[in-house]
Amino acid sequence: MNFSSHIDAVVTVAVELVNSLTPGEAHGREYVPPDGKELAALATGALRAGRTDTRNVSPAEAAELGDLAWAMRLVFIDVVAGRLDEAAGQVNELLARTGARPQLDRHDGEPWHLHFHGPTDALATGWAAGCATGLAVVLGSELHGRLGVCTADRCDRVFVDTSKNGTRRFCSTACRNRVKATAFRARRA
Ligand SMILES: [Zn+2]
Repeated sequence: MNFSSHIDAVVTVAVELVNSLTPGEAHGREYVPPDGKELAALATGALRAGRTDTRNVSPAEAAELGDLAWAMRLVFIDVVAGRLDEAAGQVNELLARTGARPQLDRHDGEPWHLHFHGPTDALATGWAAGCATGLAVVLGSELHGRLGVCTADRCDRVFVDTSKNGTRRFCSTACRNRVKATAFRARRA
């Protein structure tokens, strides 16, 4: 994608948070997120998907990130349904709620690059601000249609389509293969 590596990272984290912390259906079956320590482990994994070395998330922080994940899921749903105005409104609300503010940072030998912080250094707030900004950058670009929800049967996990021609339809290889197998069986029947 044409975004900076930091934007790519926060968008990846947004997708992972939605997929691991919101209930619904995943890869053909009902999905109910765990709670307590297991939820915290999932949230930590989601944050680390952004290639950052973050500390372990506490159960309370995981619950906060779960609320954020719900709000972000709505953005994906609105984009897929063609309700861009609603999606933009939802992202603006998240930006306001998280107090997202841009800041140039330089660390780990990298050049200066733009990060997004929350009003405090609290972990959940910082990530919420970062994810909200990541979605804002995507929605405000020509790639706004690249936010997707899996089209496989019994799956509502989300993705960002980074393919060259933007034709991705499934959240994962597992769902793509599942749909292919169903189509194959239908042809043979
Ligand atoms: Zn799927």
